[in-house]
Amino acid sequence: MVCRTPPNRHSGSIFFALQKAVTGGPRRFCSVKYERVHPPLSFVTPRPRKIIHCDCDCFYAAVETRDDPSLRGKPVAVGGRADQRGVVATCNYEARHFGVRSAMATAQAVQRCPDLIVLPPTMEKYRVASRQILAIYRDYTDLVEPLSLDEAYLDVSDARHCHGSATLMAREIRARIAADVGITASAGIAPNKFVAKIASDWNKPDGQHVVLPEQVDAFVAALQVKKLFGVGAVTAAKLNRLGASTCADLRSWSLLELQQHFGKFGTRLFELVRGIDLREVCSDRERKSISVEETYNQDLPDLAACAAPMRTLVEQLVLRVQRNDAARFICKLTVKIRFADFRQTSVECLGTGIELQTFRHLLETGFARGMQPVRLLGAGVRLEEEESEQQLGLFE
Ligand SMILES: [Mg+2]
Repeated sequence: MVCRTPPNRHSGSIFFALQKAVTGGPRRFCSVKYERVHPPLSFVTPRPRKIIHCDCDCFYAAVETRDDPSLRGKPVAVGGRADQRGVVATCNYEARHFGVRSAMATAQAVQRCPDLIVLPPTMEKYRVASRQILAIYRDYTDLVEPLSLDEAYLDVSDARHCHGSATLMAREIRARIAADVGITASAGIAPNKFVAKIASDWNKPDGQHVVLPEQVDAFVAALQVKKLFGVGAVTAAKLNRLGASTCADLRSWSLLELQQHFGKFGTRLFELVRGIDLREVCSDRERKSISVEETYNQDLPDLAACAAPMRTLVEQLVLRVQRNDAARFICKLTVKIRFADFRQTSVECLGTGIELQTFRHLLETGFARGMQPVRLLGAGVRLEEEESEQQLGLFE
């Protein structure tokens, strides 16, 4: 058997590893084979990178507490009102102590923590803080990829600050955020985005964690599979039933086995459990598309059940496009669906504006291809390339 459709974005070394895995052999030898692959040097993964994932701690709640010191030490949540079926957007650690979590219904949050102070979001204040933070990042590198108002990847591989030490840069960036913006941030430092993101959670709040290239293997091996991006509660339970609770457990699975159980996502799992993530940090200025997506705790059983989540995604997309000032560059609209069996489909159409109705049509078309429960939905826009380049020119 041969790997007929090797993912073309992979470097030679991984391609060989994938091919070896697909060609089979006893399970237990799979990772050993991988270790023994020695492709020519010119074919090896690009030079090691230094990625920082920066994430502010309880961002909205932190900004509110900064502006009203009387809130300090008290449980604070930012979100919708309990009597209007509101949801918690962010809460501080004092509130988490009571079991309050983001995305929880505010009514439930107040039940768990009767003294909870619930504040309405003041987005403009958060945007101002976010712009200040972005400006700090850009003092270190142009390769900044914001994930949300308070989270971003930085590729500092070529940055000369702090003698080129990403660890020291992260420390300095966090100190500047604290001094200039008045809130704390945590950071993960690693050779790729996936590991950096997990590492930023390690010493939260107001801390950082470094995973050196030689530590990636052991760091990832010990990770619980539920920590992997795209693995929600349902998949984690399925993996546990199949005997895999850590990434090390999953390494004994061949690529073929992973694909049989998880479709396309199996390829990604194969890479992730080995700490492989070649995704580049894409700065906003090079961005060719903007999208939002959500993996649901419980599969959405039918098309009707997808309607409300799609509306929420489109609302989030509008905000994200506005924040990137990209509305005038929209040329296509896209919808992504991952079904319960992990098969994935994308539908797109030409369009220059974000209209819910159009996304509903795309959803219908995509859903008809699977006709089964949905575990992930995404909505996005593609941006006109020529326009993007013009936009690029404006910044230079
Ligand atoms: Mg955060």
